[in-house]
Amino acid sequence: MIDTGLRIERSSNPKQKPDPEQLSFGKVFTDHMFVMDYTEEKGWHDPRIVPYGSITLDPAAMVFHYGQTVFEGLKAYRTNDDRILLFRPEKNIQRLNRSCHRISIPQIPEEAAIDYLVKLLQVDRDWVPSAEGTSLYIRPFVFANEINLSAVPSTEYTFMIILSPVGSYYKEGIQPVNIYVEDEFTRAVRGGTGTAKTGGNYSASYIAQEKAAEKGYAQVMWLDGIEKKYIEEVGSMNVFFKIDGEIVTPILNGSILEGVTRMSIIELLRDWGYPVAERKISMEELFAAYEKGKLEEAFGTGTAAVVSPIGQLNWKEHQMVINDKRIGELSKKLYDTLTGIQRGQLPDPFNWNREVNE
Ligand SMILES: *Cc1c(COP(=O)(O)O)cnc(C)c1O
Repeated sequence: MIDTGLRIERSSNPKQKPDPEQLSFGKVFTDHMFVMDYTEEKGWHDPRIVPYGSITLDPAAMVFHYGQTVFEGLKAYRTNDDRILLFRPEKNIQRLNRSCHRISIPQIPEEAAIDYLVKLLQVDRDWVPSAEGTSLYIRPFVFANEINLSAVPSTEYTFMIILSPVGSYYKEGIQPVNIYVEDEFTRAVRGGTGTAKTGGNYSASYIAQEKAAEKGYAQVMWLDGIEKKYIEEVGSMNVFFKIDGEIVTPILNGSILEGVTRMSIIELLRDWGYPVAERKISMEELFAAYEKGKLEEAFGTGTAAVVSPIGQLNWKEHQMVINDKRIGELSKKLYDTLTGIQRGQLPDPFNWNREVNE
């Protein structure tokens, strides 16, 4: 490891680890967290691992007023032989920097950031759960904390990494979900912030999610913001369709978040010899394929669920039931393969995993 000047202050009263059977998502945190500051004079400085705890911010800290904040989400897994694996962490750190760039936050040195993350995992290694389906969720995030109400980019920032043991996403086995195709609200438009993992994209999507939930749907499918015609994402996941043997996913058009799961699924499918098209796909086209019986499978992809099959799509007055609301054969194979690689139960032919040494 390079000398990054990292300072480590260990917790003097480690917490009780949660019951692995009772784990939910993002409510329990480990004993330590990573913190690093940025000022204009010093750049990024004072990287440190300290006991997990509250932080104090001035009410005029810019993040509260103008939303300059970005985040990432990835997982560490414990293998059957007690190794700790990270899945393509460099992709998340690179994306963190792309998100930072979009909302005028200074770049973070990538190599160093991965080293800090690995070091934090070494310190809290015992927190990576081992029960079937569990993992340690990793949340890096950056926020503006200059004390200033002017609407200009902050000159001061904090980068933090916190860790949370999480339960299996599919406690009762994989259940395909009902999706409402949203034709009123927009998640993102080209030229906007849709390609950045920034908090504002999420708060702007809740209203549609609430509307879908009231109607009895688990999630929304987002259409493009201009014509309300082309499919973009599903909830906070990327989306794939199997149509007449071909796998289609919306092309990264400037309003879609580039998922690490999405890119890994595409690489797997191409390696297996499936035709994969990254292109524009409209709801009309999808519905026409459905009516001809050619829409074979549909699923969302993201770090949390890995693969989330879509059982039903509601679009205007149409109810499209996909694959009898059962998980498709290809969706299942993708889920099993990707989670198998991530958990070290299958070979890792693409060298995606990064092991965290003791
Ligand atoms: C994080 C996210 C995804 C999925 O990205 P992964 O890297 O696969 O977890 C997809 N869409 C949106 C809007 C997201 O925020």
